[in-house]
Amino acid sequence: MHHEGNLRKLKSQLMNPVEYGMPLNKVVVPLNPLIGKYISLQYKGLINCIHCGRRTSKSFSQGYCFPCMRSLAECDTCIVRPETCHFAEGSCRDEKWGETNCMQDHVVYLANSSAAKVGITRSTQVPTRWIDQGASQTLPIFKVGTRLLSGKLEHILRQQVSDRTDWRKMLKGEPKAIDLRALRDQLFEAMRSQIESLIREEEDGAIEWLDAELLDIRYPVLEYPEKANPLNFDNTHEIHGRLMGIKGQYLILDKGVVNIRKFGGYRIRLSY
Ligand SMILES: [Zn+2]
Repeated sequence: MHHEGNLRKLKSQLMNPVEYGMPLNKVVVPLNPLIGKYISLQYKGLINCIHCGRRTSKSFSQGYCFPCMRSLAECDTCIVRPETCHFAEGSCRDEKWGETNCMQDHVVYLANSSAAKVGITRSTQVPTRWIDQGASQTLPIFKVGTRLLSGKLEHILRQQVSDRTDWRKMLKGEPKAIDLRALRDQLFEAMRSQIESLIREEEDGAIEWLDAELLDIRYPVLEYPEKANPLNFDNTHEIHGRLMGIKGQYLILDKGVVNIRKFGGYRIRLSY
């Protein structure tokens, strides 16, 4: 079988294990049935911007052309640094986008992908965001009304816990379980005065403390690699091998791993 189209990030569904699909030219190819089988991704030497479709020789911010990267709100630096959201100052690149994406409920969460980390996401992106990061355990700890506020909380908490995922470690196996509820309580204790002073600055009820359930996420992986060797369409026109599993946005092949999200807009032909 063959499917050709421009890569977009993998679609996922929270099942046990997670179910993945690869969107290619209006179809979503179910990937779980291909695990254990030989697959090939052939790069056709063409990249189309995932926003405007324009042909671009280089992709920026995981799939955009240069003009889109410079003009779209979703490519602004405040997206990676949410505590710098400048919507309230009236300088958002696209107010409508900001309204639907940033001026919405967000959660601050703890996760375990290779070690403990803190992160934020729009409430509607739960659990997609966690699956995209390859988290094995997650625990929402705050609910807030805007991206900016979630960023300010994350900014406080990352003095104690990393906000990064070590993807090499994440792809080497299941992480050791962490008691995220105990970690949350420790963090609240350690950062109490900073969190409380932020709460005082904000309107009543703007920050909601959560007592949520821990979520365990399992990924469809036959065997983890000893070393996660990254494969890249900029160096090779064909990535192929036996599909050993999928975790986060990574396909784990017997010859190496490929981050599908990183190659958004690349035109490829999937064969299996
Ligand atoms: Zn574009």
